[in-house]
Amino acid sequence: MLELVDVSAGYRGKTVVSGVSVSIPRGSWLAIIGPNGAGKSTLLKSIAGLVSYSGSVLLDGRPVQDLSARERARALGYAPQVPLLPEGLSVTSYALLGRTPHLGILAREGPHDMAVVDQVLARLDLSSLAGRLLRTLSGGERQRAVLARVLAQQTGVLLLDEPTTGLDIGHAQALLDLVDRLRTEDGTTVVSTLHDLTLAGQYADRLLLLDRGTVVASGDASAVLDASVLAQHYCARLVVMEG
Ligand code: ADP
Ligand code: MG
Ligand code: MG
Repeated sequence: MLELVDVSAGYRGKTVVSGVSVSIPRGSWLAIIGPNGAGKSTLLKSIAGLVSYSGSVLLDGRPVQDLSARERARALGYAPQVPLLPEGLSVTSYALLGRTPHLGILAREGPHDMAVVDQVLARLDLSSLAGRLLRTLSGGERQRAVLARVLAQQTGVLLLDEPTTGLDIGHAQALLDLVDRLRTEDGTTVVSTLHDLTLAGQYADRLLLLDRGTVVASGDASAVLDASVLAQHYCARLVVMEG
């Protein structure tokens, strides 16, 4: 169980996430949705411990802030949107980084780590690409490689920031199907931002609609993907300059 209690976060004094509280049961999928700049990525980074925040993020009742880097890497797997990839690494070498995320490239892997990575690549249908350099991968293959590194961490929680970025609808659904299978087979908890509302409604158990850092709706798809709720929060806003 992952629990956010009154989480607020921002950058240099500017609050961009404000007072978010939500409980995310084990094995469920929460999609954070909302217009551009609403604070979706910042909220996800707060859970990952990558930005400072007030309030608390509790994993099975324990504040994530209290976990050591090693414990955190074993508990939470985070995939940034459009990560910078070490293009010269092979898929296998890149996925192996997930075995020791808190040590960076200095780590030495053992036979068990190789076995885990082989298994992850097989699950993501990447075995035939194991030796390929990242720079040679297509968009869908890259996103699966990113997922492979995170899955190699073998965490109970996956935090995915716009995992379908750059993918056509078929590849996007194939990727989310994979994530959904992990969720049902392993009981993995998934928290993802998804700018595509149709996909969010299709895959997530629960949606959290953020607007200007605040939760304006939450619940199942039928409650949140209501036309009038969306119209209210997704309309473009013009900044009128006075002067
Ligand atoms: P979303 O993911 O919903 O598009 P973000 O969480 O990325 O929103 O951004 C929320 C707000 O925080 C935006 O106004 C954005 O410009 C600002 N922001 C995001 N990252 C930073 C940063 N590293 N430094 C300063 N401001 C940031
Ligand atoms: Mg954005
Ligand atoms: Mg974002």
